[in-house]
Amino acid sequence: MKVITSPYPDVPIASESIFTFLFRTRYDAAKPHTPAFVDAASGQTISRVQARDYALQFAYALREGFAAVGGIPLKRGDTILCFSVNSISWPIFMYGAFAAGIRATLANSGYTARELEYQYKDSQSKLVLVHPAMLHIALEMFKNMGLSESEVKKRIIIADYGMEREPHTKAFKNIVDLLGKGSLEEEEKFPGDLSNEVAFLCYSSGTTGNPKGVMTTHRNVIAQITMVQDVMPDDPKDAMLGILPFYHIYGACNLMALPFMRGFPVVVCPRFEPIAVFQYVEKYGITKMLTVPPIFLVMARHPERTKFNLKTLIYMNSGAAPLGAPLASEIREKLKAQGANTYITQGYGLTESTSGSHCLHYKDHVRKVGSVGCLLPNMEARIVREDETDVEQGETGELWMRGPIIMKGYLNNPEANAKSFSKDGFFKTGDIAKVDEEGYFYVVDRVKELIKYKGFQVPPAELESLLLQHPDINDAAVIAVDDEQEATEIPRAYVVHRSGRQNVNCDAFGREVQKWIEPKVARHKLLRGGVVVIDAIPKSMSGKILRRELKERAKTEKVSS
Ligand code: AMP
Repeated sequence: MKVITSPYPDVPIASESIFTFLFRTRYDAAKPHTPAFVDAASGQTISRVQARDYALQFAYALREGFAAVGGIPLKRGDTILCFSVNSISWPIFMYGAFAAGIRATLANSGYTARELEYQYKDSQSKLVLVHPAMLHIALEMFKNMGLSESEVKKRIIIADYGMEREPHTKAFKNIVDLLGKGSLEEEEKFPGDLSNEVAFLCYSSGTTGNPKGVMTTHRNVIAQITMVQDVMPDDPKDAMLGILPFYHIYGACNLMALPFMRGFPVVVCPRFEPIAVFQYVEKYGITKMLTVPPIFLVMARHPERTKFNLKTLIYMNSGAAPLGAPLASEIREKLKAQGANTYITQGYGLTESTSGSHCLHYKDHVRKVGSVGCLLPNMEARIVREDETDVEQGETGELWMRGPIIMKGYLNNPEANAKSFSKDGFFKTGDIAKVDEEGYFYVVDRVKELIKYKGFQVPPAELESLLLQHPDINDAAVIAVDDEQEATEIPRAYVVHRSGRQNVNCDAFGREVQKWIEPKVARHKLLRGGVVVIDAIPKSMSGKILRRELKERAKTEKVSS
């Protein structure tokens, strides 16, 4: 067995709760009143000490206060579902949940009621923390589940700290109503082995099938933010722009936990709008930005970019999808021409590895452009062939990883766990990678089914089972095709019409199917790559869809989308 180790020395990892780590072990008591989170549009701020105090108050609300006003009572180990766009409410309810010893499952803010219900039920959530803009989706979900109005009220808390109270949310308790009514004196403790209890349940489809609850522990998160420390430059005036979604593990760790630990503020944006982003960089003197390749592309090519002062921007990291060397160089050169000397780096990781397992060191950003960097400290990897033997150095194979950021497993899913881990504890990523002689990794392909639209997961199995519910579809397969203009993959469906391809207007049927699926899924899952009617879905003897064949076919096919 050829185990690749990190070139960095191991770092010690605290075994305690995330709350204890951030607010005791690594809390800088000298800076309690400096901003920790800033609402980009309004400038409203939560200081470090407010973050702690509100969290302990909200923890009290979750454990006692909400139940006292008719809400569902919660105990240590219960799960709540967080369904919100980015806002400065996130740190309050996440830190509050950690302090209360409650697990948080984070849902994509674009989910439909159907998708939300799947996650709510699968994670066995007790209640929903919901942003006012998405309240109607949570209500629709509970209605579909057959809950009465009074039962629904017990299960909803509106997550709108810092906003004008929205009239349509008046019937429910919101975070602000619940703050200030009491406070936990101390957080729930997770010392030693208890630090391996679950903190987050983000959802990932893994190598195959439907989304699964990824059990991320307190120690996983502490390991992640401890291990990633040295790959970024430090600046005394550091401020990070928070455009990654908090609900994705990339944002959950790197916006909520990492900056707080290092003592710099996060300027929170609800969504990516290029002009607003340029304005915020200028207004708040943003130094760091973590993002995804399609956003790099928009920023690099935007005609208004040069009108703004972006000189403070010293570090931009791309993750969640491949950032090609040409795009990395393009944005670096363009920013340079504007007087910004920005390190452009790339990380790689998965929900299952608590975000980054690899990150290109900022000093290597030109020399190793295109690489995702070396393994972070404390990590081990193997690159294996299909027969699970190790490849020769420089050859490509499936990347397997072991170390303190690897999830505890998928929730209530022994079958997926058995498939995803090797006997000696390596997690099988489903990605194809190679490593050069200096230990720098390159991610070159994916063997798993997963499609990524602008960094968001699109599980083909979920779309396929939906398509099979269409009355005219007998069989279906969904694959990724590249959209180079948008620097992303997009999902394309191949379907078998029950009347046979010859007997239908394939183009019209394809468009009808695209429309039919639209209200059923979040926008990132739309069939942007088109719908193609074929005679039969290519399958192996055992009935597995031969996705490679469809991908080959897609290369030569022009489809209107
Ligand atoms: P997620 O669990 O949503 O973070 O998705 C993880 C998957 O995103 C990985 O298994 C990869 O397929 C893909 N991914 C993440 N980062 C990169 C990267 N830098 N290059 C290529 N693929 C990536």
